[in-house]
Amino acid sequence: MLSSSYEELRSKLLSREISCEDVARQYIERIDAHRGDNIFITVFHAEALERARSLDRKLSEGGVPGRLFGLPMAIKDNISMKGAKVTCASKILENYESVYDATAILRLEAEDALFLGKTNMDEFAMGSSNENSAFGTVPNPFDKNRVPGGSSGGSAAAVANGLCLVALGSDTGGSVRQPAGFCDIVGLKPTYGRISRYGLVAFASSFDQIGVLSRNTDDAALVLQVMAGKDEHDATCSRHDVPDYAAESSSVGIEGLRIGVPKAFFPDNLNSDISGIVKGKLHELRDRGAELVDIELPESDYAIAAYYILVTAEASSNLARFDGARYGYRSSDAADLSSMYVNSRTEGFGREVKRRIMLGTYVLSAGYYDTYYKKAQQVRRVFQDRYREALEKVDVIAGPTSPFPPFGIGDKTGDPLEMYLADVFTVPASIVGMPAVSVPVGLDSLGLPVGMHLICNFFEEGKLLGIAKMLQRRT
Ligand code: GLN
Repeated sequence: MLSSSYEELRSKLLSREISCEDVARQYIERIDAHRGDNIFITVFHAEALERARSLDRKLSEGGVPGRLFGLPMAIKDNISMKGAKVTCASKILENYESVYDATAILRLEAEDALFLGKTNMDEFAMGSSNENSAFGTVPNPFDKNRVPGGSSGGSAAAVANGLCLVALGSDTGGSVRQPAGFCDIVGLKPTYGRISRYGLVAFASSFDQIGVLSRNTDDAALVLQVMAGKDEHDATCSRHDVPDYAAESSSVGIEGLRIGVPKAFFPDNLNSDISGIVKGKLHELRDRGAELVDIELPESDYAIAAYYILVTAEASSNLARFDGARYGYRSSDAADLSSMYVNSRTEGFGREVKRRIMLGTYVLSAGYYDTYYKKAQQVRRVFQDRYREALEKVDVIAGPTSPFPPFGIGDKTGDPLEMYLADVFTVPASIVGMPAVSVPVGLDSLGLPVGMHLICNFFEEGKLLGIAKMLQRRT
């Protein structure tokens, strides 16, 4: 029997009702049974069992079990683990093995987490459907003809299908929250800088954050607790103290809680099921003592426009390092140095990644820098100011995670702009750098998951998870 929370699993492990080896075997068996779904890119068959046995030995020899003792985890394949492949779901890194561990991984490992494998994703985390992967599409756990969301689609599907208890993703504009919403689980993006990015392959460095996908908010709080905090390997990692998230989240009360409801997150053309379910939940909270406050925020469309200028600019620079010389794939069709660069990148990168490198190069070019890049930076500042002001008046900002339910595989691949709109409600928190979470709140008329999206002020992850916990439905 699979446990539905780490607390439950931990008590079975510590009372020796089951062993870590049993846990590893069970989960690996399930992962193998789902092989056709492309959820994992690498499975740690031997390593997970070996690690589980050593954890069992530690316990039987009287060692003190770590805070994540035996927690079965999956890791998005853009997070480095020493000796394991880190493909970013790209052909260009298909055979690339990491030579070091990400800081987040080292911290999880030090608390005895059990790693099961690396999960599928959109190539270099660019996408909202997992369809931009060089390793196949992943079916949505609720309807196999639909997408699981992206870019952390493999991690979300792994948690939702019970192939791990908690997974790591990365979130640049919604890649943890949107797939969590599509797969009926919890997805947390912490404050920018809360978790070290050391070892996370860079997409857009001023946005990227490692995030947590889990079945409940308590597991998210625990895993965040372990990973958060300063790191000398990442200059943008915050030195802000890490509070006790479990304590903070359980001290949030509903009486008098001020929930900001911006018009910008409930446009007139919003899917009616989604709008109905999310508003219904908000009314429930009001009936339980919370106060709903109408607030004004800038239209989210501007956030999307600014986001796709800024992240493509940063990506064009970050991805310059994949040149066929230093990392991964090298074209065999190379007459000289320049054709080696060009052909390696042409053959190694997928369509969306190339599109973004070209867009980013364009918006940074001397002739257009002021028109696009500089303007987008100004928009970013306006969003930061307006969100800060809003959060002086309310405790949390609420809305739907996605404007539409999980869509069909292939439905949006022909039109990149349509795909970009999938993140219209998640991108603002990424632009401002505030923590945000998607929490499952219901199923629509087709039985597809609906997520609610909450944003709190900088470093208020404890409060954010406490509020999310009040809303969470059992999944
Ligand atoms: N879907 C968004 C994009 O394609 C977000 C990706 C992410 O958060 N990594 O950029």
